[in-house]
Amino acid sequence: VNTVSALAALVFTLGLMHADLSDRRGWEHDLRRAIAGAEFRLAYQPQVDHSGRLVGAEALVRWHSPQRGDVPPSQFIPLAEETGQIVPIGDWVLRAACAQLAQWNAQPGTAHLTLSVNISVAQFLQPDFVRNVTDIVTRSGCDVSRLKLELTESMLAENMPDMAARMQALCDIGLVWALDDLGAGYSSLQALSRFPFAQIKLDQSFVRGLPADESSLHIVEAMISLADTLSLVSVAEGVETQEQFRCLVEAGCQVFQGYLFGRPMDIDRFDALIASAPDAPAGSADGGDAPH
Ligand code: C2E
Ligand code: MG
Ligand code: MG
Ligand code: MG
Repeated sequence: VNTVSALAALVFTLGLMHADLSDRRGWEHDLRRAIAGAEFRLAYQPQVDHSGRLVGAEALVRWHSPQRGDVPPSQFIPLAEETGQIVPIGDWVLRAACAQLAQWNAQPGTAHLTLSVNISVAQFLQPDFVRNVTDIVTRSGCDVSRLKLELTESMLAENMPDMAARMQALCDIGLVWALDDLGAGYSSLQALSRFPFAQIKLDQSFVRGLPADESSLHIVEAMISLADTLSLVSVAEGVETQEQFRCLVEAGCQVFQGYLFGRPMDIDRFDALIASAPDAPAGSADGGDAPH
């Protein structure tokens, strides 16, 4: 009986492994089709300054699969990382984002807006990453100084060879780097100073506890003051309430992103938001149609 039940357990386990594997193959297959079939689009989430004025957006990839419906990035990005499919997906994202930035060149009220794009480890590690990004950016005709690339904090811990050099090469063409999800990982914050970041993005997990949770508050304050010391701009993610916003402004945070200011939205809605936003203040040169 023991042998029988052991065998049954083994068969069951093998069955699960098989289901897992063929499910993985199914995902890979669907992702491949998604890449070929233009099933991705970008959502734009607003970023604002301390007065609530729109300063830019983060571009976030969205996948609508005919078979699976809307699949969130938290589900397919890790898989795409493993299979290497993140490389063509990442190229598509960067091309689409640069095309949008270039389009804003001809649109009033947009000259001050920046656009952030997430870069994954596998993408960053491609031998031709720097040349590829340079090509995409240059061909798009966008204003490269308004493009931000985000790397996550966990990448600092990976000790990637010539990470700083790669980053610097792209700084040299004029774009800027932001460190995403700061505080979510375990990297030494000293590592920050070794890389040419211009911004840090405080992880949502700290923002969530504000203003009541004292340890969140202390950590947020410490990260913002570290950012100040290193002359980095602080961005807060996951801002959902007025209280969190007020608390972060008081702590010296400069840029804010979260449901309080807008969920990730399609480009038509984002363009409508731009159109309804108050004009950029004098000093930030805004091409074309000056108000009378
Ligand atoms: P992330 O780069 O940290 O992006 C912020 C995530 O937080 C987004 O989730 C956004 O919708 C969500 N978020 C924004 N404000 C709030 C808020 O107030 N409350 C809450 N609860 N959530 C908020 P999303 O779009 O599901 O993306 C998840 C992650 O997937 C991203 O985290 C990023 O790491 C990755 N990702 C998204 N798009 C891309 C992409 O094009 N390329 C790569 N490599 N990764 C991407
Ligand atoms: Mg991000
Ligand atoms: Mg983030
Ligand atoms: Mg995140």
